Amino acid sequence: MATLPAPSATPGRGTVPLADAILDTLVHRIGKDAQAARPHDWLAATILTVRNRIIERWMESTKAAHAAGAKRVYYLSLEFLIGRLLRDALSNLAVMEDVCGALDSLGVDLSSLEDIEPDAALGNGGLGRLAACFMESLASLDLPAYGYGIRYVNGMFRQRIDQGWQIELPETWLAYGNPWEFERRESAYFVGFGGDVEPLEDGRVHWSPAEAVEAVAVDTPVVGWRGKRVNTLRLWTARALDPIRLDAFNAGDHEGALAGQVRAETLVRVLYPADSTPAGQELRLRQEFFFSSASIQDIVRRHLQYFGNIRTLPDKAAIQLNDTHPAVSVAELMRLLIDHHELPFDEAWDLTRRTFGYTNHTLLPEALESWPLALFERLLPRHMQLVYAINARLLREAREKPDVDDRAIAAISLIDEGGGRRVRMANLAFAGAHSVNGVAALHTELMKSTVFADLHRLYPDRINNKTNGITPRRWLQQCNPGLTALIRDAIGDAFLDDASALTALVPHADDQAFRERFGAAKRSNKVMLADYIKGSMGLSVDPDALFDVQIKRIHEYKRQLLNIVETVALYDQIRSHPEKAWTPRAKIFGGKAASSYHNAKLIIKLANDVARRVNADPAVGDLLKVAFLPNYNVSLAEKIIPAADLSEQISTAGMEASGTGNMKFALNGALTIGTLDGANVEMRDHIGEDDIVIFGLTADEVAERRAGEYDPRAAIEASPELRQALEAIASGVFSPDDPDRYKGLIAGLYEGDWFMVAADFDAYHTAQRGIDARWNDRAGWQASAIRNVANMGWFSSDRTIGEYARDIWGVM
Ligand SMILES: *Cc1c(COP(=O)(O)O)cnc(C)c1O
Repeated sequence: MATLPAPSATPGRGTVPLADAILDTLVHRIGKDAQAARPHDWLAATILTVRNRIIERWMESTKAAHAAGAKRVYYLSLEFLIGRLLRDALSNLAVMEDVCGALDSLGVDLSSLEDIEPDAALGNGGLGRLAACFMESLASLDLPAYGYGIRYVNGMFRQRIDQGWQIELPETWLAYGNPWEFERRESAYFVGFGGDVEPLEDGRVHWSPAEAVEAVAVDTPVVGWRGKRVNTLRLWTARALDPIRLDAFNAGDHEGALAGQVRAETLVRVLYPADSTPAGQELRLRQEFFFSSASIQDIVRRHLQYFGNIRTLPDKAAIQLNDTHPAVSVAELMRLLIDHHELPFDEAWDLTRRTFGYTNHTLLPEALESWPLALFERLLPRHMQLVYAINARLLREAREKPDVDDRAIAAISLIDEGGGRRVRMANLAFAGAHSVNGVAALHTELMKSTVFADLHRLYPDRINNKTNGITPRRWLQQCNPGLTALIRDAIGDAFLDDASALTALVPHADDQAFRERFGAAKRSNKVMLADYIKGSMGLSVDPDALFDVQIKRIHEYKRQLLNIVETVALYDQIRSHPEKAWTPRAKIFGGKAASSYHNAKLIIKLANDVARRVNADPAVGDLLKVAFLPNYNVSLAEKIIPAADLSEQISTAGMEASGTGNMKFALNGALTIGTLDGANVEMRDHIGEDDIVIFGLTADEVAERRAGEYDPRAAIEASPELRQALEAIASGVFSPDDPDRYKGLIAGLYEGDWFMVAADFDAYHTAQRGIDARWNDRAGWQASAIRNVANMGWFSSDRTIGEYARDIWGVM
């Protein structure tokens, strides 16, 4: 038995060897000895031991911010797609080798522990992953910040592929508990719903909610690069005020007695897998208000505790709304300022606007959140009054402008009067914020000319751009140690602290020896991915084939269908011309479809049907393989991206706000084939147009076609490759068990093709053959890939957060 460590024993410092500290934790915190411990016990013991080191820095960070009277950043997001945390913490604390060695001496393999850590999937996709990258960058830049969200018990669903179909299963990431987190029972707030609002004699009003739950804080430390700073991700869980009604229980109604608790828990049960279609459910609005209210109460409480004066809130707190999901916070802060702190409306409105910033993530009309007025009023009667009051002020301001007509007023209003009346959350967020930002240059310009055109005319200084970024710690250093080591060898360590220093790599693209080492690092990542594919789905892919990857949420605008149809066309051509020198390709897909999104689920099935047929066809052999990897999440992305040669970023131009997957691939040395959409446009500017493959309609051209006479049928008839591929799919070549399966999907292309699959097909097909030719010039390909890595430093989320900090939050 090891000697007991001193209480202050922490990894990497102190007198007690780390192995003893882990063993001690195993015995005294987990209650197992080394013989009885299962892998999950070792994982928990390791995390708890590492956490000890973090806690001290965490407290130091909080104290320092307090002592300095620093302004804090609050990032409100319904989603945080954080993934696993152990490797992130070990790497950022620079204790990876120590912990690895300590575990080794105990006969435990660190990497196998890393592999069983649950992936915290509290998000749908890019928006949630952005929030996670931002939290890491905020800590790395030493900015005092809190993330606020919901601690979903099940989070995003786990995807299984059964006979090619997506099956959704609950994600049980908390099954073994979560050793990273601290429940803060003392940080709890009432959150009310429904009820009545009564006027008081002094002119104020009193809201008596019909029901209330208690929001309880659960904190997870977020470690910055080099352990500089540790910030807090505060996720809310829900508890019934009365966990059990004893009267009902004793009267024999056992379930009824627990109904309140069940109702509270329902609030934090699942994340709606609604990427673009509003969940529409009352529960979603309840979730939004629940976490917004708890967060705003917490922020106001902390401000008063530290600074004592509610009027200085905007000087000490910057609240960023990640999309409109937390937009009800605007009304909630107004309520607290007016009803609790007795400020006059105008002053409350001024403080509110100076405190909030709002980030818009989508222009898709179906994804712009709005709530039926009746629902909003029933659930949040006081907030409804405030929305009306805000709207009256907003429209009064608008009417004072010379050229604002009734049409503009209708567009600016917080209430959509068309059809059933609805509360527009994007307009509320816009009105209640001093900054409204888009997430890539093109997206920001489109915001000004489309959804927010009238609000923009009214407040021309409010919209600004903050192009998204990704954290290079997770998305280069941790996921791609081979490439990282190679880069350090070539240009030193400066890029670890400042990703823009990667540009020093540019000249190495012309160095034959470096190119070969670069190629070897990529190949070894491809071997690992090939092993994973073989082990998890039994499919052999050749590591020397071109790994052509499209992983992201399945959505018609992201056009996985374009990729699959092109794959079918290629398959056809390989079979017709087996004598040609085809470039061997492995087509790799991954992504989840929202459970109610019929076409997206059908596209998953199609990818799997095509894979089954192609992979079994001896006529193509190793020239073409298709794999749909189940359960795309952060951990899987970390495996796939370092192994990719080609990154598919082929959304219909004008529809992808930014994309961040595109950035991860290029940073790991994949070439991009993409449209001029989202951040692809800026990637082209930074990488240079010779090292990225751009094809297809521009956003303007898409808009023109949609407004004019786009005839998809004519486009299909004019392209024999496309026509043949579509006919094969529609006639059941890939679905002999159900020949009509894809009739509707393909008919949609002939009849409308909103996403311009047919319009862009030939350009895409031609670009892909250009890729084949590039691949054959391996030295040229590798030089290009190296220049991609070298020029992607600008897309670090450190750069993005620096811009937010200076331009929006005023904290840098
Ligand atoms: C980066 C990331 C995304 C976003 O990918 P896009 O290609 O930008 O849509 C989605 N999911 C996960 C797990 C990610 O890591």
